[in-house]
Amino acid sequence: MKFTHSDLQSKIKEIFKGEINFDEKTLDTYSRDASLLEVKPELVLFPQNTEDIKNLVKFVSQNKADNPNLSITARAAGTCMSGGSLSESIVMDMTKHFGGVLSVSPEEVVALPGTFYRDFETETLKHNAILPSYTASKMLNTVGGMVANNSAGEKTLAYGKTEEYVKEMKVIFADGNEYITKPLNKEELERKIAQGDYEGNIYKNLWNLIQENEQAIKYAKPDVSKNSAGYYLWNVWDGHTFDINKLITGSQGTLCVITEIKFKLVPVKKKSKLFVIFMRDLENLSELVNEILPFKPESLESYDDSTMKLAIRFLPEMIKKMKVNHFVKLMFGFLPEVGMMLKGGIPKLILLVEFGGDEDAEIDKKMKDLYAKIHHFGFTMRMSRSEEESSKYWTIRRESFNLLRQHGKGARTAPFIDDVVVKPEYLPKFLPKMRKILDDHKLVYTIAGHAGNGNFHIIPLMNMKDPKNAELIPVVSDKIYSLVKEYRGSIDAEHNDGIIRTPYLEQMFGHEIVDLFKKTKEIFDPQNIFNPGKKVGGTKQYMIDHIVKN
Ligand SMILES: Cc1cc2nc3c(=O)[nH]c(=O)nc-3n(C[C@H](O)[C@H](O)[C@H](O)COP(=O)(O)OP(=O)(O)OC[C@H]3O[C@@H](n4cnc5c(N)ncnc54)[C@H](O)[C@@H]3O)c2cc1C
Repeated sequence: MKFTHSDLQSKIKEIFKGEINFDEKTLDTYSRDASLLEVKPELVLFPQNTEDIKNLVKFVSQNKADNPNLSITARAAGTCMSGGSLSESIVMDMTKHFGGVLSVSPEEVVALPGTFYRDFETETLKHNAILPSYTASKMLNTVGGMVANNSAGEKTLAYGKTEEYVKEMKVIFADGNEYITKPLNKEELERKIAQGDYEGNIYKNLWNLIQENEQAIKYAKPDVSKNSAGYYLWNVWDGHTFDINKLITGSQGTLCVITEIKFKLVPVKKKSKLFVIFMRDLENLSELVNEILPFKPESLESYDDSTMKLAIRFLPEMIKKMKVNHFVKLMFGFLPEVGMMLKGGIPKLILLVEFGGDEDAEIDKKMKDLYAKIHHFGFTMRMSRSEEESSKYWTIRRESFNLLRQHGKGARTAPFIDDVVVKPEYLPKFLPKMRKILDDHKLVYTIAGHAGNGNFHIIPLMNMKDPKNAELIPVVSDKIYSLVKEYRGSIDAEHNDGIIRTPYLEQMFGHEIVDLFKKTKEIFDPQNIFNPGKKVGGTKQYMIDHIVKN
């Protein structure tokens, strides 16, 4: 039966206990996330329990043939920067009734996907443990969003991305049933395949796909330390273990709905100290990064001169964000930076190198040894003496995107080439070429990011009311992503493909691999009911048509 809008809501009401909203204000709110896109949903649903999701998935599966536009997009905090949580059909908000930590120990934690990371961390810290792939948006996003986007952050250099920390999940596949997904050895995989049912067939078809295309898949793996692009077929089978979670993590809700996650945790180091390097030019960046990495810092982050200028301009607000009492003292703490700015001597890039350990002496030795090793570059360096001093640099780094979002002045943040990554050794050649493309198009932008991984967030400021700017987006994307390909990098390291980058996956991976991505999607979701247009099937035209106009 083909549904009208009112048929649809009344039919869903029969099978769904949670709230169903479709007032204009709600639809407007859910039309946006932190991306440059706008897509208006038809309904916004708040599932109350697993039964609600199972019933909804069954309902959509059964009615998809007559209603080809019907689909389900799970949404958590909506901070996705690639448009992953946007949909024209049903958006299912997981934050209202699907939050909470179910159990926690120093080694692992079980949580519902709509749990905000800030609440999750409060619980894990009671056991002196953290999920170290936390993001710069950790006060805003959920753990389910982190899994679905395979998020990462300042500690990823030392600890890896979210994909390293998912031990087990509960998920709802397209048949509307809930399953446990966890790593399997060969015998367990064979038993699963022998089931011959819906779940067994997913494992069988995925196993066959991976076996039949082993060489192509191996070669397709991006040669970088972090990647969110595509389906990570290369990570599923390592010769001993078949871990389907390596594929579900980062799949942006296109393969199933996640209903519960068991994460591995790591202990918090007792002490940490920050070593700051002020680079007046980028010429020696890769040599410098490569000399720092053997010291095994916990973080190696960076922000550029534009970010720093912005932070100085909005200094009082920045300090408020640090939530400190001694406002005046801290204002004085920024005097060296203000001085640099007035003299026009702001460094091109500021590198933050954080060391962690259990003893001061251990960290101090590393800092001294690092100083001795990199002194020859002739850059100004500072070993921060207190948490307060470190906090000023960290706040600038973490708040860089938010600052821009709030202070565009007629222009807004335009994240579209916001997450490129290449091996650090290529940075000296890659960065100037990338900047030249941006400068040739007269873009105003900031660069901040994870220098240790060669992953940079480039955020242009653009007036989206001017249609010429919307036209620039595919033009600049094409050029930047060609450059990324030249250096065998990835178009996204942590922010994922969404609507904004799915059309570029073919440019990055080639036709054969994108065809395997399509087959992967068909194995899990043959009717395309889960979050369509992300990972597979997205077009440049759809992306252009949905760029915000304000
Ligand atoms: C200021 C700012 C800073 C940021 N910094 C970082 C950073 O440092 N590192 C980083 O990696 N990202 C960063 N991001 C991007 C974003 O915060 C992360 O991707 C985050 O993990 C998304 O979480 P969320 O809860 O907002 O998920 P959402 O945006 O709601 O959803 C993200 C994706 O997950 C899917 N999804 C959500 N829940 C489920 C579920 N239960 N089952 C299946 N699929 C689901 C959605 O469909 C969508 O595709 C930043 C964003 C902002 C605004």
